[in-house]
Amino acid sequence: MTSYDDFVRTDGGAVLMDGNRLRDEIVAGIREEIDSLGNPGVCLATVLVGGDRPSQIYVRNKHRKAGEAGMISRHVELPEDATQDDVEHAVRSLADDPEVHGILVQLPLPAGLDAEAVLDLVPPEKDVDGLTERSMGRLVRGRIGHVPCTPLGVMRLLERYGVETSGKNAVVIGRSTLVGLPQVLLFGRKGCDATPTLAHSRTADLAGVCRQADIVVAAAGMARLVTADFVKPGAAVLDVGISRTEAGIVGDVDFDSVQEIAGAITPMPGGTGPMTIGCLMENTLAAARMLGAVPG
Ligand code: NAP
Repeated sequence: MTSYDDFVRTDGGAVLMDGNRLRDEIVAGIREEIDSLGNPGVCLATVLVGGDRPSQIYVRNKHRKAGEAGMISRHVELPEDATQDDVEHAVRSLADDPEVHGILVQLPLPAGLDAEAVLDLVPPEKDVDGLTERSMGRLVRGRIGHVPCTPLGVMRLLERYGVETSGKNAVVIGRSTLVGLPQVLLFGRKGCDATPTLAHSRTADLAGVCRQADIVVAAAGMARLVTADFVKPGAAVLDVGISRTEAGIVGDVDFDSVQEIAGAITPMPGGTGPMTIGCLMENTLAAARMLGAVPG
């Protein structure tokens, strides 16, 4: 494994938690493992409904990384006017196909489609996005299952960059089932042993709450919400938010001011985003293992 003793630091001295670098390391490790197993045909399938441009780009990137990781990928594309039955039929076929190990339904689905009903058709073993109610239930109950890729990516960055979590205060801004809620569960799990706080739009004195934290994860989708006065000196700050503004794509963290105070910080872009894809690859290999397609 590459040593990170040569941590890159920002001008203000914070360790830069480089998601591109760690994702590449994860993908290369998976490729090595799949090659050593004789290329057993680990397969990730994606379902994309409609022509949403960012979703098309996300899906294309996932296929590219799956290829680099030595996986096979399959893609099902349905038109914007696909019916609920069409989408459910596509997902059911992939769920029944023994050669498919991971299924990712790209969200959001076009208006009028019931995403929950579609996700319900993904078996927990193949739910590499970790978003179905059964996967969330497994996470809450501490059973083996897939963890949502974005919060898992945050945990991988903390591990890789040696950020201590045990006994530390972690504040997560945002309470969605996609990011904030599973993030809090991961911080509170045995082995991680942080003390998490879940903040949201009704949290009183958000800056004061964040200043108590050793780790801040910002997943609100509010451009540059987290400024220097939110951050305790030396804290680790991880930016999940993505906002499209006139100045381009911006995170939840005001990087320039926060890097002067933080002990470690993710860049944006190049932090949590690539890690989401790296963890999708990790989950897909784990899915193949759960399904007995690769030795456990
Ligand atoms: P979401 O469902 O819209 O949830 C946003 C959460 O942030 C809500 O809980 C909301 O509080 C809270 N919030 C909004 N404004 C706030 C404020 N001013 N102060 C405190 N809390 C506030 O969004 P999501 O799906 O979790 O995604 C969050 C962000 O992460 C988005 O920008 C999304 O694009 C990005 N994202 C990035 C990745 C990645 O790979 N980096 C992956 C997924 C999502 P209430 O519940 O009170 O409304």
